[in-house]
This record gives sequence, structure tokens and C-alpha cells, in this order.
Amino acid sequence: MAHREADLLIIGAGIVGLATALEVTRRLPTLHMVVVEKENHVAAHQTGHNSGVIHSGLYYKTGSLKARNCVAGAAAMKRFCQEQSIPYEECGKVVVATTREELPRLEQLQQRGIANTVPGLRMLQREQLREIEPHCEGLAALHVPSTGIVDYTVVAQEYAELIGRAGGEIVFNAKVVGLSEDGATNVVETRAGTFRARYVINCAGLYSDAITRMTGVQTDLQIIPFRGEYYEVRPEGRSLVKALIYPVPDPRFPFLGVHFTRRVNGSVEAGPNALLAFRREGYTGTPPDLGEAMETLRFPGFWKMAGKHWQMGLAEQYRSWVKPAFVKALQRMVPELTEADLTQGGSGVRAQAVDRNGNLVDDFHFVHSRNMIHVCNVPSPAATASLEIGKEIVDMMAERFNLPRARSEPTVSHHAKL
Ligand SMILES: Cc1cc2nc3c(=O)[nH]c(=O)nc-3n(C[C@H](O)[C@H](O)[C@H](O)COP(=O)(O)OP(=O)(O)OC[C@H]3O[C@@H](n4cnc5c(N)ncnc54)[C@H](O)[C@@H]3O)c2cc1C
Repeated sequence: MAHREADLLIIGAGIVGLATALEVTRRLPTLHMVVVEKENHVAAHQTGHNSGVIHSGLYYKTGSLKARNCVAGAAAMKRFCQEQSIPYEECGKVVVATTREELPRLEQLQQRGIANTVPGLRMLQREQLREIEPHCEGLAALHVPSTGIVDYTVVAQEYAELIGRAGGEIVFNAKVVGLSEDGATNVVETRAGTFRARYVINCAGLYSDAITRMTGVQTDLQIIPFRGEYYEVRPEGRSLVKALIYPVPDPRFPFLGVHFTRRVNGSVEAGPNALLAFRREGYTGTPPDLGEAMETLRFPGFWKMAGKHWQMGLAEQYRSWVKPAFVKALQRMVPELTEADLTQGGSGVRAQAVDRNGNLVDDFHFVHSRNMIHVCNVPSPAATASLEIGKEIVDMMAERFNLPRARSEPTVSHHAKL
């Protein structure tokens, strides 16, 4: 098969790869760009298996890439949906304290939200909470009116449509299996043939670390896959939840705790939990992958992480195996919910980067090598923030690859440089 040439090759047609490609078509329209994707459609993994929440920017450390890109990204996402007539809803959410110990943490969350410029935050007493969510029980709650819902698969499909119309190409069934350099050119071997590209952006999600390693770059990060399982609330029980009901999160852990999410199609989900998945694309019912499990077990950071969080891990596993335990966690917020209201739902796998010391990398994280940018950690709220992340990456390209820069906003300098 003849080699194909491109100026820029993006690996992965999830929401981050596609948002980056879309920004390239707007800012660098003369670049000949190809996106390669191993599956036969866009949004096949994290992007198509998430909660569909347009996060507000409440939770993230002030000044972090997550905080900045989420607040701006949520506004950009809603604008995009309006412009492209994609159904979305600004339904708002409540974060509910059900114990006295959670009250100071709820206050801190409000302060953080204010510092992050999340609009309209309001602390609610029990009666005010019941006006918004009549079946929800709690000592107090934080109302976040700007939180919304959308179907990110539809958003990703729209990004792909616009990329195509602007002359960008997405090649499916093109799993990247090799990456090397030939002078100033990157040689990218895929199942759909070999591409020679001046620049490469690695947006491979659950396999972003594997692609980084293919280039010979050593990072101390490894992706540890965490599966999130959902239950679906039966139609008869949907009236128990008007919009989004979340617990106060455990600050030691990057996940938000099982919550109720109304979807844009009107269904209501409960979840996701956070389970170690011994397979990167290990959805419910998929058996573990021995090679990938060994990769996790051989990584020193895994054992250090397990040492720090084993209690939380066991509790999550127990809740996964024992449905009444899962239901009990949800009943703290909605006591009328019964086990019979819930049926098995879907699942998604989060790509969470962990360092050699067992720390779960909290912020978005990028690594550069010569003519490549590796998107090494873009967990939630990256779907919300995708349009802003796309801009960040094109800013980095302009800076690192000496390309013209058209963006008026200030450039970010928080990314790791090798
Ligand atoms: C359970 C769950 C709930 C979430 N809820 C939310 C939420 O409510 N709101 C929110 O903002 N975020 C949420 N997130 C996070 C969000 O979904 C992700 O941060 C986002 O989708 C990441 O996008 P991505 O493009 O980096 O990854 P992905 O969507 O996983 O895309 C990566 C792509 O790369 C491809 N690929 C991998 N390896 C190769 C290879 N070798 N060659 C070619 N292609 C390759 C994959 O097939 C995939 O299509 C959630 C995530 C999960 C898992």
C-alpha cells in the first residue's frame, strides 16, 4: 500500500481529537489534516459512554486547566449546541449534604465554585431543596443552575461533520500500531496503511500512554482504567428525579460519587461507580485482558495507589456486586427509591493517568516530544471542555511547531515539556 502524506495527523476520533481537528480547520485551514481512528465510528469509547453532563466548573482547583477550560468550555458547548441545533438542556443540579460532616465541605465547594466564576450558585435549606427536587432529602444543598445535559455522541458526530465539510478527513478502522521518525517526518503505521505526517497529536484516550511509549518517550504516567457502571431508573420511578442530584464528593478521590442524571432523551440513570477495570475497554460483561491486567499490576504506581485507596476500592467493588448496597448509597439522597426501581444500565471506562508514586493525576496533562503532542490525561470534564481543550492544543501547536497563531486569548504555559 502506498504511503499517504499529511501535514498533521491526529490519533483518535473521540471528542478531544475531534475538537482539536475542528479548531485546526478554523485556525490552520491550509494544513492537510487526517484523523485516524481504530473503530469504525466516532465516539466509540469514553465519549460515547459518559453521563452526558455539561459540568459547571464547580469542583476543580482554582486556576487549574480543568477549572478554566470547564467554565469557558461549558459556555462554548451550550453555544455550539444552539448554533448547530443539538438538543441540550440547562437543567441545573443540586449537590446534597446528607450528614453534618458534609456541611463544611459543601461550603468549601461553594467557595471554590465562586472562585472559579461558576454563575448563580445558591445554598439551599431543606425546604428550598424540596422545591427544586421534591423527592430529595438532605440537610442542605448547593444549587448549580448552569449545569446542563447533552448527548456527547451527537456533539462528536457534529464535530466530525464540520471537519469533513472543511476538508479534513477521518480514516476509520485505522488502529495505530507503530510510530517512528524519518528525518523531520513522523511515520505512523496503521491497520489502514502508513501515513507520513509532519506533526502528530495523540488523542488516543485509554491508549494515550501506549502511543506515547511507541515514540520512545518515557513518562512516569500510566493510564489505569476505571469502569463506571450505571443503573437505569425504570420509567415508573423517573418522577423521583427532576434533573441532576449529586452527593458531596470525597475530596481524596477524583470521582464524584454515584449520582442521579437525567439524560436528554428523558431517561434517568444512577451511577457511575468507579471500579478498577483490568481491561482498558472493559465494559460490563467483557472479560479482563490478561496482558493489560499484567501491565497494570507491573506498574509500581498501581500498588502505591492501591495502598492509599484500597478501602474506597473495596467499598466500590462491594457496591458493584451487591445491588442493595448501591441502592443504599442512592437512598441517602432519594429515600423513596427502591431496588425494584433500578435495572442494569450501561457502563463506561475512564482513562485516569496515575504516576509512579500512586497519585491520580488531577489536572489535564500534556507531554511534548519533537513534532508531537501527547494528550496524556483528559478525564471528566473533558467532554464539557472539549472545544476549549481543542484551542489549548492548537495554541501549543502554534507555539511548539512555530505555526501562525490567530487566537486572541492568552496562551497557556502549564503543559509539561520534555
Ligand atoms: C463513565 C464516564 C462518565 C463521564 N461523564 C462525563 C460527563 O458527564 N461530562 C464530561 O464532561 N465528561 C465526562 N466524562 C469524561 C469524558 O467522557 C472524557 O473525558 C472524554 O470523552 C475524553 O475524550 P477523548 O477523546 O480523550 O477519549 P475517547 O472518547 O476515549 O477517544 C479516544 C479515541 O482514540 C481511539 N484510539 C485509541 N487507541 C487508538 C489507536 N491505537 N489507533 C487509533 N485510534 C485509537 C479510540 O478508539 C477512541 O475513539 C466521563 C467519562 C466516563 C468514562
